[in-house]
Amino acid sequence: MHPSGDLHNNRADHHHAPWHTMPAEIIQVDNEVPDVRTYHIALTNRDDAAGYTIRPGQFNMLYLPGIGEAAISASGDLRFSNPLIHTVRAVGNVTQSLARLQKSATLGIRGPFGSHWPTMECHGKDLILVAGGIGLAPLRPVIYEVVANREWFGNVWLLMGARSPDDLIYRSEYETWRSKGIDVLATVDQASSGWTGNVGFVTPLLDKLDLPDPSQTTVMTCGPEIMMRFAAQGSLAKGIPVEHIWVTLERNMKCAFGHCGHCQFGPHFVCKDGPVLRYDRVFELMGVDSL
Ligand SMILES: Cc1cc2nc3c(=O)[nH]c(=O)nc-3n(C[C@H](O)[C@H](O)[C@H](O)COP(=O)(O)OP(=O)(O)OC[C@H]3O[C@@H](n4cnc5c(N)ncnc54)[C@H](O)[C@@H]3O)c2cc1C
Repeated sequence: MHPSGDLHNNRADHHHAPWHTMPAEIIQVDNEVPDVRTYHIALTNRDDAAGYTIRPGQFNMLYLPGIGEAAISASGDLRFSNPLIHTVRAVGNVTQSLARLQKSATLGIRGPFGSHWPTMECHGKDLILVAGGIGLAPLRPVIYEVVANREWFGNVWLLMGARSPDDLIYRSEYETWRSKGIDVLATVDQASSGWTGNVGFVTPLLDKLDLPDPSQTTVMTCGPEIMMRFAAQGSLAKGIPVEHIWVTLERNMKCAFGHCGHCQFGPHFVCKDGPVLRYDRVFELMGVDSL
């Protein structure tokens, strides 16, 4: 056993039928920002829907027949597992084809896969969420969990960065989150007229936080790897223990359950050991090119 405990304590149970592709139908599409859409996807087979649950940080493989599969994180309120909610940036083959689909289109879903954010370990403690761009999507289920059970958590801060104000996703929800006592701080690389928030990297926002007890604070971060490295280093500098810092890794994956080796990252498989990993397990590898 590792001196600081079980290193895989946020791993979910092994998926019972990892190749099973569940038929599903898009029932709603929300445009978030250019190239980013949120899909509400209903599992159409009643047995699939009845047995399905997914945890914050986990992902599904979205399958478009004849085109391919893409790993996409859950981004909705996971107290309700059907319909599934996924927020997707159109970048390539699968995700651009998905962007052309409308309500009533069908697709396949495999999942859930991967490790989850350790939200239960945060009960009674303070929580800092650091998101870059669409990295807010896998953290939104954590925000919904906080909103639904506000008394279980201490102070909660959401620090998020985007290229411009127009690139901030889920903008219509920030006021609700604030009304639930979440301190939402946004920063952009490039301000536009009317923007009164911060300009610059997301990580200096960390310096502004007055943490009552860093040893009782957890950090969860998702976004570009360089941003997560700075967020983790800034958190360490504030006295937050390394075992309380969680990052997400993104690698191309095929099987999604640790068999094909596509997403191997040093000794880890991002699909089953990750995508959510404790920073002390991966910080040495995160700096290595092409891993
Ligand atoms: C665990 C996990 C969870 C993920 N969750 C989400 C999510 O919630 N929402 C989401 O939008 N994406 C998410 N991704 C990323 C998503 O899986 C990829 O963007 C997707 O696989 C791209 O597939 P494609 O066939 O559309 O692109 P491809 O045709 O495979 O790639 C086309 C081009 O786009 C580049 N590219 C691929 N991915 C990205 C990227 N993320 N950003 C910029 N350029 C890219 C490739 O290098 C290539 O040049 C996640 C990835 C992982 C591993």
